[in-house]
Amino acid sequence: MCGIVGYVGTQQAAPILIDGLSKLEYRGYDSAGIAVRDGENEPEIIKEKGKLKVLAEMTNNGKAVVGCCGIGHTRWATHGEPSAVNAHPHASDDLNVIAVHNGIIENYQELREKLEKHGYVFKSQTDTEVAVKLIDYYYKKYAPLPVEAIARSMVRIRGSYALCIMFKDYPGEVYCARKDSPMIIGIANGESYVASDVPAILKYTRNVYYIGNMEIAKLEQGNVTFFNIDSEVIEKPLTEIRWDAEAAEKGGYEHFMLKEIHEQPKVVRDTINSVVHEGVVHFDSVNLTDDEMKEIEQIYIVACGSAYHVGVALQYVIEELTSLQVRVELASEFRYRKMQLHKKSLVIVISQSGETADTLAALREARDNGIKTLGIVNVVGSTIAREAENVFYTLAGPEISVATTKAYSCQLVAGYLLALQFAKARGEIEEARYQELIEEIFTIPDKIERILEDKERIQWYSNKLVNVTDSFFIGRGIDYAIGMEGSLKLKEISYIHSEAYAAGELKHGPISLIEDGTIVISVVTQSNLVEKTISNMVEVKSRGAKVMAVTTMGNYYLEDTAEFTCYVPKIDNLFAGSLSVIPLQLLSYYVSIGKGYDVDKPRNLAKSVTVE
Ligand code: GLU
Repeated sequence: MCGIVGYVGTQQAAPILIDGLSKLEYRGYDSAGIAVRDGENEPEIIKEKGKLKVLAEMTNNGKAVVGCCGIGHTRWATHGEPSAVNAHPHASDDLNVIAVHNGIIENYQELREKLEKHGYVFKSQTDTEVAVKLIDYYYKKYAPLPVEAIARSMVRIRGSYALCIMFKDYPGEVYCARKDSPMIIGIANGESYVASDVPAILKYTRNVYYIGNMEIAKLEQGNVTFFNIDSEVIEKPLTEIRWDAEAAEKGGYEHFMLKEIHEQPKVVRDTINSVVHEGVVHFDSVNLTDDEMKEIEQIYIVACGSAYHVGVALQYVIEELTSLQVRVELASEFRYRKMQLHKKSLVIVISQSGETADTLAALREARDNGIKTLGIVNVVGSTIAREAENVFYTLAGPEISVATTKAYSCQLVAGYLLALQFAKARGEIEEARYQELIEEIFTIPDKIERILEDKERIQWYSNKLVNVTDSFFIGRGIDYAIGMEGSLKLKEISYIHSEAYAAGELKHGPISLIEDGTIVISVVTQSNLVEKTISNMVEVKSRGAKVMAVTTMGNYYLEDTAEFTCYVPKIDNLFAGSLSVIPLQLLSYYVSIGKGYDVDKPRNLAKSVTVE
């Protein structure tokens, strides 16, 4: 998920690797490392937790490391905390195979056990070390041919990866393999480069090859050979990169926010796959047992901002699936309340960064009261992840845009899986319904993809909203929770005054604010509540409001009331929020850029709120 750079050529490799990695720093990372080889000599591996600066200081900007062939990595931890041991490159004990890896090996546990039976010992907690030792195993078991060993491993590995590998017996060569994780190969007179992202090599070359899924590449000085999974040589066209450095950082998207919106199908899928194996949720990594789940009687979800809105949506989901009592609390309030916490309760704190000051304080408060805690966190090894008793890691990867999109979506699915597991552990869900819902969760990524295909229509409508000053979001049940998130998104990046109301609350006050031209955005996906919400839409329309609706395909009659309707694919009511939020993210994005604002860095806001 983070940065990879590799080089084979005639120049000293380490300065090029460090320079390339520095171009990927904007993505965020927690540790960095390089492995460089000078001819037949033993490779040198240097890696450390922290900033690239540390690595640069250790190596005099790479100048102290001799050799013209190497690989480098900036790590965004997914498996194992940030530390020197977990940093990449990873190597087999005899340094036969050395590799860096971006992505996630989903079946690493099973592979690790298999390798342990063959005498392999693991030093780190990473999934990457498993991949490295698997390649070493196949290399030694069958013919010592790198491409074959990699291909055999690729068949066994489930998950996503961009791998750069060096073999002891093949000095001056770097091998690459890829599945569902980006990687490009650059070529310039006598030199070959590989990188997970264009900015790392833009300074050296604009001539690149795109390595496809399940393909392998061999890099030599100025020469690249590609192979398919059957180890047959394949041809690839050379492409010229036309992006400038800034566009390259955003993967060709205009802004990080749009890039991250588009990453949602992948990261949501990764998060689901991290705990669902063969149709069953496994919480070993979360460390919460079924027995513990049976004991719990009350859940408090504590968070801030968008993560709080995740909590509001999850309250409906958990209550629907289990007999648990659920309360959702703002972290900044929770810490100062004199609440009598139920002894048999679980406090779930949700934070992308794992450093949110108020949420951390709430976690400590709960812990000090002897209450069991669970963190839903994106950053591995963050303070909340370290201090919570149990951790569910979302696999959103680094989120750069201040306004969250992909981390929010991952938190939501993490919560669904938690709710399902609670229901199952407590015997509160029939097996058939459980299976049905697991299958339904797996449809979310593709359905998000379909909504993203409709973005031009949303852009068109957004352009009509750039001069609006006030807006209201309404909905009932889960739709209300999503309205809260939509409203926050719009106000934080477009600076349009916006409020979210439970649709039924309108008549208790806010309806007096409706006048000619007021924008009301209505979320209408909960099949049992559609008619009620339509009544509210009619109420505001008859008072002059312009109504936009986000609803489920099939509810075409909403067009009688709404001036613009956005449809999301059908899905079980419980998970509709994962779909209805997408048009609202796009709407906010397009309104903000329509107004000419810096959408990735809205005024007065910080990405991670580490102050009270
Ligand atoms: N899953 C690997 C790890 O945790 C790679 C993470 C990355 O993509 O940086 O080390």
